[in-house]
Amino acid sequence: MDDRRVVRPLLGFSASVRHHVGVVFPAGLEAAVASLRAPELSPIVDLLAWPSPDRDDSGRPLAVFVADFGGVACLDADNPEGVLIEGRHPLPSTDPMVFAVHLDEAADPSPDHERNSYPLPWMRLSSFFTDPRSPDIAVVHTGKHFFPEQGGHEGEHGSLGVIQSRAPLVLSGAGVRSRGALDHHARLVDVMPTLAWVAGVEPASLADLDGVIRSDLVERGARYVIGLLWDGAHPGSLVERAASGELPGVARLLERGCYLTGGAVAEFPSLTLVNHTSMLTGVGPGRHGVVGNVYWDRESNARVVPNDASTWHRVAQLYRDGVTTLFEAVVSARPDARTASINEMTERGAWASTFALVRSILDSGDAGGSGLSAAAEPDDFLTMMRGFLPDPLESNLVTHSRCAEDMDYAFYSAIDLFGLSSMLELFSGDEGDWPAVSWWSQYTTDAAHHAGGPRSAIATDGLRDCDARLVVLLDHLDSIGALDRSLILLTADHGFESADTSVRGDWAPALAAALEPLGVPWRDEGPGFIYLGVQQ
Ligand SMILES: [Zn+2]
Repeated sequence: MDDRRVVRPLLGFSASVRHHVGVVFPAGLEAAVASLRAPELSPIVDLLAWPSPDRDDSGRPLAVFVADFGGVACLDADNPEGVLIEGRHPLPSTDPMVFAVHLDEAADPSPDHERNSYPLPWMRLSSFFTDPRSPDIAVVHTGKHFFPEQGGHEGEHGSLGVIQSRAPLVLSGAGVRSRGALDHHARLVDVMPTLAWVAGVEPASLADLDGVIRSDLVERGARYVIGLLWDGAHPGSLVERAASGELPGVARLLERGCYLTGGAVAEFPSLTLVNHTSMLTGVGPGRHGVVGNVYWDRESNARVVPNDASTWHRVAQLYRDGVTTLFEAVVSARPDARTASINEMTERGAWASTFALVRSILDSGDAGGSGLSAAAEPDDFLTMMRGFLPDPLESNLVTHSRCAEDMDYAFYSAIDLFGLSSMLELFSGDEGDWPAVSWWSQYTTDAAHHAGGPRSAIATDGLRDCDARLVVLLDHLDSIGALDRSLILLTADHGFESADTSVRGDWAPALAAALEPLGVPWRDEGPGFIYLGVQQ
């Protein structure tokens, strides 16, 4: 028998395929996969993944295929590590603890495919492909791929690979034993159920989430629960710089707590909006619906960009039914509890929220343009936002030279200073007014790691600046007697990996050459989200 006839249905290329919404082009899918698996693209294409057409009642695909130039595997609930279909296994390891020792990672900062690991591939990929907003094919860039013409930076994230998927996880204070490093890992979806449980939500109402309560790391008892997110903060650098005295705030947290050397594994893709949403709802993208920083929505036939200054305040509009934020969970268990979400896009249900403030300013008409209108200019929105932000060059909690060097560093430094003042204000006045649960996201770390990659001088300055602001908060909490009664969790939304600026290239010409003769239109969002049957 022709081998090709055996392999085709195995790979999900069957002729009767229908997508959630549109008709998939099976010949197009097969041609696209073949073109992206070309060995000459292997310096920039690390992996491909696509779902089987068969789905369960929740929309979850019954199988996900993973491939690279050397082989294909099929993953499903019974075989979460994958069954080999062709060649050699495209996932050489799925161990979440690979490169948990920072020295190992620093010695091999952008490992070749054979030395890399891809943790929890079935759980993460099947969640991603559950939502019809997901693409027909996900293309994972190699860590080395440098693509500035399409928005890539010297430091990048988004991959299924372990380094870009690993966020730090530090727990400190009330309810946490001083245990230092624990050779373990968690998932970012564990953050919401763990903090909600500490804040008084009963386990039964958290049982249906993708994440679990990590009662092995913390006990109940804290009066105040404080979550800190340093966007893109590289876990190895964080711990190493704390030990060397460069991050005294993190060092103070570690003195009174523990951290996981394997960190917290981000959902796929290891992108900002996907993981802010995942960690604060306890479910992956297949349930909350925020599948990327940018994606194509087949239902509305439109490009959606959740991760943009002009859209951050309305991310909740994208949530699928059944999503519960940390703040909603706490308030439903404790209706009188105050909750706060500072500079964080996941904020639905919070008593105090930065983006609720943004919405109220927009609604009042004080802003030049309305970000709620599709026609609004993002530039107008940014001008409005900047008008409310402090000048980072007037603060000693910001490395001024970096602001001149990198516009994002300056913008996010201003955002982070605003966040600090919001946190100090929340914990002022009568104790009865202090929030039982608060969350504060900082972003300078992300700008700094994009600019120079992990372990670069600018990345270190980003960590130092966020730490300086953390020290101000810790000192304040200590001075008002709140610190010893607080549980503090510090994490990030993803890791970071350094690109190799000599590894350039674009898979678009190969895709075009494969799909145009078949008359199959396609779009590539991200880049890496390939939608078939959609015009560019
Ligand atoms: Zn991020």
